[in-house]
This record gives sequence, structure tokens and C-alpha cells, in this order.
Amino acid sequence: MKIINPSNNNLIQELETDTKESVIQKVNALKEGQKVWQAVPVAERLQIILKFGELVQSKIDELARILTLETGKPIQQSINEIRGANNRLDHLQKHAIKWLSPEEMTEGATRELVEYEPLGVIANISAWNFPYNVGYNVFLYALVAGNAVCYKPSEFSSLTGLKFQEFLWEAGVPSDVFNTFIGTGEVGQYLLDSDLDGYFFTGSYATGRYIATQVAHKLVPVQLELGGKDPLYVMDDVADVKQAAINAAEGAFYNNGQSCCAVERIYVQEAIYDDFISAFIDEVKGYKMGDPLNKDTFIGAVTRPQQIDLILNQVEDALFHGAELRIGGFRPEGEGNYIVPTVLTGVNHDMRVMKEESFGPIIGIQRVKTDQEAYELMKDTEYGLTAAVFSQNQERAKAILDKLSVGTAYWNCCDRVSPEVPWTGRKNSGLGATLSYQGIRAFVQPKAYHLRS
Ligand code: NAD
Repeated sequence: MKIINPSNNNLIQELETDTKESVIQKVNALKEGQKVWQAVPVAERLQIILKFGELVQSKIDELARILTLETGKPIQQSINEIRGANNRLDHLQKHAIKWLSPEEMTEGATRELVEYEPLGVIANISAWNFPYNVGYNVFLYALVAGNAVCYKPSEFSSLTGLKFQEFLWEAGVPSDVFNTFIGTGEVGQYLLDSDLDGYFFTGSYATGRYIATQVAHKLVPVQLELGGKDPLYVMDDVADVKQAAINAAEGAFYNNGQSCCAVERIYVQEAIYDDFISAFIDEVKGYKMGDPLNKDTFIGAVTRPQQIDLILNQVEDALFHGAELRIGGFRPEGEGNYIVPTVLTGVNHDMRVMKEESFGPIIGIQRVKTDQEAYELMKDTEYGLTAAVFSQNQERAKAILDKLSVGTAYWNCCDRVSPEVPWTGRKNSGLGATLSYQGIRAFVQPKAYHLRS
């Protein structure tokens, strides 16, 4: 498999992909290894995972460079991601032992207690956009809980995936407890065909739905962290319009808009609309686009070449339906998968840019009159990952957020994940939760004991 640098389309490296036979071999070894790993005390497993975290942080420059080369992510954002993902390790250190330990429920004549056993060997089929964050959410938690992991990195972040393996093994995770499966969806399919004890997927709705249907007959846990079309509504009582515009732009364009919880559509109340638009465009004009290895680059290359056509088609469709292109909307001269950050106004829900996940450097901003109108538009989506409202009035903001079917609601912030609370999507944004105590318990199955002496 050719690993291509999206910022110049040069070949970085070629990797040997897994085959049907190698997948069978690795899965069989993991089944044996898991039995031994399960018997290792949680505290010991946790120490090994914390050691992994230290190794990663000690090599942050090298790892950030690899991530930037294979995904086009600006180097400072790669560093931020690797540093930031460490909060999952802090979270595990703080809570894992407590939430994985047996729980005494009653003290009567019959003692009742619950023990939490690992699922067994699980598949972690993962995405490329934040491989540290979304990877750690699954494989670190699964390992601490006593599972063995088949880790299938995206074909667009396989070098990073191999680094996870190297450092996990170096930290003391046995090679028959964590293994990496290299390749495209074909290799993912071999994992779906294997006899595994759980499927944890991060990626697009289309692939997630396919995976869920393929493995349904196995009756094992399936978790899906999928896409979004996350709305942000800026109310007319917002404290500082310029600051709101700066924060909204960052929510839309950080990592080139390739975040599952990126702001994908914005609604602005008419009294502040003009001021908001002018501040927003000023901010976006100031973003430096270019070589992702430069420290001051904010807009790097779009990772998947296929996404470029989708974004340019959204622009064309919006213009055809009467939108106004305020900035960007085209590919600059030169090599690499670049798109100039794109802002469309005069948009509406007849346009694809307001309905279908863009996952790139493009945003539509729509003027609204009332909270009711904003609410109607915000809920007009098949997705349910996050929604945000900017306002000075928490009650007014919450009145909208309470009614929306989303896994995460933001007041005066956006595009944010914390390990202390569940990360979960509704509707086409997914199934199940990672992070929080739910995200630890996701990797175990309870066994109820009724003990009478
Ligand atoms: P994708 O669905 O194209 O691929 C994800 C993974 O699935 C890859 O490893 C791929 O090789 C594998 N795969 C593809 N076809 C398969 C098949 N038939 N069987 C088994 N595996 C298969 O998604 P992507 O482009 O890597 O990621 C982008 C998407 O992920 C966006 O929609 C984004 O919103 C979503 N995402 C969601 C979250 C979240 O937490 N909700 C986080 C990150 C990304």
C-alpha cells in the first residue's frame, strides 16, 4: 500500500498490507494472548498503558512529523493532538480501577455483587482525522479493561498506527494482545468476517451502517462513532460578536474542517449578522495556508483526495441555488490537496452544503430571525453529534439545546471533547459511547453473583 503525502502527493513509504491468512493468524494469536492478559491485575495493566503514554510524549516531535506527513495536518495541530490526547491517560489513571473493580450490591443473607469481565478480542476499526484521540478512546480503554485489540488504522494514518503498536509493545503490552492490521476496507472486511467479541468503529455513516449490519448476527457489542453536520447558532445577545466569529471560524476550520465535531453550518441572528460576517471573513482571510510542516500554517492539505470533489461540488450546488461565495471555493495553483477556505452566505437547506457532511474547509452561514427559526433549522439533519449556541443567556441557549437530539450540547464553546463526559452520537452519528465511566464500561461485560453461604 502506497502512503502518499497529501501536501505534495509524493510517496512517503510503501507498506505490506495484511492478507486474509495473516488476519486469521493474528486473530488466533490474540485469542490466546487475551486469556493471559485478562489475568493480569487492572493496576498492572494500567501501569503499562501509562508507560505507553510517557513514551509517546517523549517522542512527540517525531510522531507529530509522521502524522503531518501522512495526513497533511499542520504540525502545530499534530503536536496539540498528541499532547491533548494524554488527558485520556489521566482519565484512566483517575478512574479505571474504581470502575473496573467488583461492586458489592447487598449485604443480606445472599450476597450480591457484580464483577466486570473483559469482552475478549475486539476490533478497533478507526479513522485518520484524529488518530490519537479516537484511537486512544478505544484501544487504551479496551486494553486496560483486559481485552486484546485488533487495531485497524485508516489507510490514511497507517504509519501512526504502526507507531502505536511499537510503543505499546515497548511499554509492555504483549504482541499477542495488541496487533495492527494494515490495509484498506478489504482488511477491515476480514475483521468483520473473524470471530471477534466486539466491534468498535470510528468513521463515516456509510461504513458504520455497513459494519453494523454485517456483524449483527454475532450478537456482540457494536459501537459506532460516525459523522455529523453540527450546527452553531449565534444569538443577537452574544457578548462579543467579533470573538464569537473568531471562535466559530476556528470550530469550522481547525484541522481543515476534518473533525467529526467541526462546526459544519452556522446560523446568525439578523441584528448582528453583518458584523458577524465581516469579522468571520477577516478571521478566515488571516489563516495561513501552506506547507503543513511550517509551524505557522493553520490550513494544511485535505487528507483524502476524494473529498476535494465533494467540497467543490457543494460550492457549485450552492451557487446554482443562489448562494454567495464570500471567500475561497477553489484549489490554489501548485501541488497537493489544497482548497482555499471557503465561506458561503445566502445559503438555505435546499443546498447540499447545509445538509450533507462536508468534512473539509467550507462553511455556510445563514441569517435567521428568531430562536424558533434557528431551532427548526438546527434540527433539520439526519445527524446528531453536537450542537452549539453562543449567547449571554444560558437559559435561552439551553431552551434550544434541550430540545435537540444530539450527544453533546455546547454553550459558548464548540468542537470540544472531554474524557470526563461521554462522547456519543445520536441518529446517523452513531451508537454507544466512549470516554467517561460509560467509555470504560463499554469494554467489559457484567457478571452478577448471588452468593449464599
Ligand atoms: P471511513 O468510513 O471511510 O473509514 C473508516 C475506517 O473503516 C477505515 O479504517 C477504513 O479502512 C475502514 N473501512 C472502510 N470500508 C470498510 C469495510 N467495508 N469494512 C470494514 N472496514 C472498512 O471513514 P474515514 O474517512 O476514515 O473518517 C471520516 C469519517 O469519520 C467522517 O464521517 C467523520 O465525521 C467520522 N468521524 C467520527 C468521529 C466520532 O467520534 N463520531 C471521530 C472521527 C471521525
